[in-house]
Amino acid sequence: MSSSTRHTPPVPDETTAEGRVRHFLSAPRTMLIGGVWESAVSGHVFDTVDPATGSVLTQVPDGDGQDIDRAVTAARRAFADPSWRRLSALDRGQLLHHVADVIEANADELALLESRDNGKPVSVARAVDVGTSVKLFRYFAGWPTKLEGSTIPVSPRGGLRVLNYTTHQPVGVVGLIVPWNFPMSMACWKLAPALATGCTVVLKPAEETPLSTLRLAELLVEAGVPDGVVNVVTGRGATAGAALAAHDGVDKIAFTGSTETGRAIVQAAAGNLKKVSLELGGKSPNIVLPDADPEAVAEAAAQAIFFNQGQVCTAGSRLYVHDALYDDVLEAVSERAERIVVGPGDDPATEMGPLVSARHHARVTGYIASGRQQGARLTAGGGPPEVAGLYAEGYFLRPTVFADADHGMRIVREEIFGPVLATMRWNNVDDLVAKANDSPFGLSAGIWTSDLGHAHRIADDLQAGTVWINCFNLTDPASPFGGVKQSGWGREMGRTVLDLYTEVKSVWVNFG
Ligand code: NAD
Ligand code: MG
Repeated sequence: MSSSTRHTPPVPDETTAEGRVRHFLSAPRTMLIGGVWESAVSGHVFDTVDPATGSVLTQVPDGDGQDIDRAVTAARRAFADPSWRRLSALDRGQLLHHVADVIEANADELALLESRDNGKPVSVARAVDVGTSVKLFRYFAGWPTKLEGSTIPVSPRGGLRVLNYTTHQPVGVVGLIVPWNFPMSMACWKLAPALATGCTVVLKPAEETPLSTLRLAELLVEAGVPDGVVNVVTGRGATAGAALAAHDGVDKIAFTGSTETGRAIVQAAAGNLKKVSLELGGKSPNIVLPDADPEAVAEAAAQAIFFNQGQVCTAGSRLYVHDALYDDVLEAVSERAERIVVGPGDDPATEMGPLVSARHHARVTGYIASGRQQGARLTAGGGPPEVAGLYAEGYFLRPTVFADADHGMRIVREEIFGPVLATMRWNNVDDLVAKANDSPFGLSAGIWTSDLGHAHRIADDLQAGTVWINCFNLTDPASPFGGVKQSGWGREMGRTVLDLYTEVKSVWVNFG
């Protein structure tokens, strides 16, 4: 081998997912505005970090109000453009299928990129984040041809003969503000119905995890989404996010994230009374009846709280176990927690990756301290695992179980959004239901039993947008998802989400 060959710097092998991700990360990224890849007007950038190592992956534009303004202008122009407005329903459906195809064709790369930026295991990113995104576009590809209005039997005075019919028209320019826990699939939860109904969008990913969204934007261009129909602005919540929520040129905001930020968005939206839909926090009760199988329930209860590092809005964070099974379930779930393999997302043995950021790690650790201080009994985890070398600076945390928690404790009342389970004992079913409902949140709940009649009765009484019986965390593009109380406004997915992205127009025709 000649010396010149030996000294050539390694070129990423773009035939592999790893090579393509390395190529993607090899330069600072830009954002997509009106079909053009742009830096922030200010020229500022910020780092995005690998949570397994704390090292910088690359930089993205630190977009602010000026960039949001450009993106909204581009989205308004695209919304008025006949090439988008008049696209036939079949062609719109076909476009969504193309998007699903390109996501599928790049699935391994997207999963690896998601894992690097967020910390989650690659296998989870591949199956859940990327898999769900493909399913969403396929499901919503079927809707443009089915957005039917009605003809209405009205009763005008004086024998007037009229035709009254309704159409469902796109709401307009939609601002999508998404979180970091399922970055790409949360974007697709909103993008797919927005495009199916003919809206145009400005999408702001979370500052912790902008990369999969930027790569997705490239793929949307590849799939043939017209310029300006999807614009992506990377930036911080307080600047770019707040500017999007307040912008007069935006007709609707679809948001997923914390309840606190949801409140700020509602206030910002008041200026032009834009429509708002919100998927917010949760503190979901997971309820074990006395006839459940303790071993199976313990495994499921561990999954329900520790999946995705506990960073799931529906996480089963309050485990209520009937007195008859309490000790057995507590022991088994604690033992399962201790056995969960915590490590970097690209190690195939890893079951739980690092938390998303140093800031979030500190927040979750603070809740563990509060649980100890308020008198809950720690039965598993409680601190970081031993990790050495490259991963010593990563944001790892062991799956943590508290026993004997109660409703006066912050670990029972507040959303931790991390791998921390609060376990409680119950005896009386009326008290149990009252406890389960004793929360400002109402996103989801789980019930474990072999007595389905009993399960239905409890499900009927729970204040929750979703109830899972003998399962947990199942979702599907065809099934509505959302919360009651302070867990949100509106339902995403299924046919119900179409109402969030359309306005009904009633047309009256006098035909004599
Ligand atoms: P967050 O709600 O602040 O962030 C979510 C998104 O909102 C991000 O894109 C962010 O940039 C944006 N944002 C922040 N402030 C904004 C504002 N004033 N106007 C418009 N957009 C704004 O969440 P976080 O700070 O990353 O996490 C804090 C806590 O929120 C977590 O610990 C967890 O409890 C909860 N959370 C819940 C979910 C969920 O899916 N329900 C997701 C993320 C975070
Ligand atoms: Mg990151």
